[in-house]
Amino acid sequence: MPKLTVVVPAFNEAEVLPIFHERLWKVLDGLSLQCDMLYVDDGSRDSTWDIMQSLAAADPRVGALKLSRNFGKEIALTAGLDHVDADAAIVIDADLQDPPELIPELVAQWQAGHDVVYATRSARAGETGFKRFTAAAFYRTMEMMSDVAVPRDTGDFRLLSRRALNALAQLRERQRFMKGLFTWIGYKQIAVRYMRDPRKAGKTKWNYWRLAQFAMEGITSFSIAPLRLATWTGLAASVFAFLLGIKVLAKALMHGDPVPGYPSLMVAVLFLGGIQLLALGVIGEYLGRNYNESKQRPLYFIEEERLPRA
Ligand code: UDP
Ligand code: MG
Repeated sequence: MPKLTVVVPAFNEAEVLPIFHERLWKVLDGLSLQCDMLYVDDGSRDSTWDIMQSLAAADPRVGALKLSRNFGKEIALTAGLDHVDADAAIVIDADLQDPPELIPELVAQWQAGHDVVYATRSARAGETGFKRFTAAAFYRTMEMMSDVAVPRDTGDFRLLSRRALNALAQLRERQRFMKGLFTWIGYKQIAVRYMRDPRKAGKTKWNYWRLAQFAMEGITSFSIAPLRLATWTGLAASVFAFLLGIKVLAKALMHGDPVPGYPSLMVAVLFLGGIQLLALGVIGEYLGRNYNESKQRPLYFIEEERLPRA
């Protein structure tokens, strides 16, 4: 029988984990596959790890990894996927925003020959209009700026076939924009639509600062468009400044310069200064990325592990 592993990253999810566990297994028990699961504790500060351990102790099909500190969801996910030896893996959030009931549909598409089956949400229940708007703006910007089209309204909830897992395992960049990486590997990809539920318990770790960082990550990991933009803006600004210079000079030669050219001087200085800082920032962003990658550090450390035994 083909084997399926469900990978669940969790950070301070003690409240929701037992409910999640029960709902997930209700679904997995209905599948005609050999199923197990792997929790990844991403350095939680509540009792998440204790709960994972007791769940793993109660069922040999349940495994748990504890990372040495909080590394962020993307890395936690990678740690989990690195430990999967099954024919396919499913990635799902612990907060029940990704309905486990969708898993049979994901599996059906995998059995129909797809390598990456991602869940795309049709509605975002329990989220503010502003969050919805920023999310939409995020995907649109990503589409415009990146070389890889990240599917819209799609989280990390998805199924990966063995060869997709193998491909993903070879992408070891430190700054991991998972949605982009999942798409980048290619193979046969397909969407399954669903309604996204509000979080069942616990608090979201999401905020606008995180989204801004995420957007920067998504754009700079997958595109050098901002570098090009900086070049073109710089060029345009220089041409403009040159023409302005000629005009100012011509005016001064013809009519003299009764008032020293304070306004035009200020405009030119401020404008060029702004453009230069912007371009420097863009270059710095990529340079920093290069610096981080060049250190070649391992992506994560595991403090304790207890892999599924069945
Ligand atoms: N998560 C994680 N490490 C983190 C932050 C989040 O492993 O540093 C997990 C979290 O426990 C949950 C999933 O990633 O299972 C999604 O997190 P959250 O619900 O906060 O994000 P949102 O659904 O709002 O995008
Ligand atoms: Mg969530």
